[in-house]
Amino acid sequence: MKTILLIGLGRFGRHIAMKLNELNHQVMAVDKDEEKVNAVLPFVTNAQIGDSTSEEFLSALGVRNFDVCIVAIGDNFQSSLETASLLKELGAQKVVARAARDVQAKFLLRNGADEVVYPEKQMAVWTAIRYSSDHISDYIALGDDHAIFEVEVPDSWIGKTIGQLDVRKRYHVSIMAIKQNGKFAMTVITPDTCLPAHSTILVLGTQRDIQKCFHI
Ligand code: ATP
Repeated sequence: MKTILLIGLGRFGRHIAMKLNELNHQVMAVDKDEEKVNAVLPFVTNAQIGDSTSEEFLSALGVRNFDVCIVAIGDNFQSSLETASLLKELGAQKVVARAARDVQAKFLLRNGADEVVYPEKQMAVWTAIRYSSDHISDYIALGDDHAIFEVEVPDSWIGKTIGQLDVRKRYHVSIMAIKQNGKFAMTVITPDTCLPAHSTILVLGTQRDIQKCFHI
């Protein structure tokens, strides 16, 4: 369980609060708007109304004690930059800030943010890849080159074992798991694992190798 300071409770911040609650983490939620704070109360451990660009207010929250501080302010870049910078100055262990443009990501990383999330860009990439092929069910980018794709088992692979297909050597990708009906059916994959029909596989590799292997 982690203790998380979540600042900015618009739609994005509220979704983060709901998910963290589902994952049983301890969340202190902050917004300058009372209504926004009230709306997340069912999902968080504590909440405060206040302006995160005020050093006095942030300092009183004891930002050092949180494992992660998430700045989910989007439109008001001045506020998010000041907040990220103050959090770091006050000794925050890890500051994650939301960016809406490349240039914002750059400034945030130079001024207090340890990491940046970029929802519009990240979801745009995911949407483009997910819906540009009928065979892809999910996709997770890992750095610039690598990714995990969830793809349908190609027809010519059904009933064959991973060893027979010699997937790693021939295609330079690794099969990590098999899913059936949307649920994980096998997570320990050996050369003897046989690929069933009506299933998807989670494949790790460079984007180029995966695209080549599955013609996507
Ligand atoms: P979203 O896109 O998540 O719906 P939004 O467009 O409603 O967000 P943003 O300007 O991105 O609004 O701000 C997100 C939240 O951050 C808002 O609820 C806003 O009240 C809050 N916020 C903005 N500046 C501050 C600040 N300085 N201190 C505390 N909360 C702030």
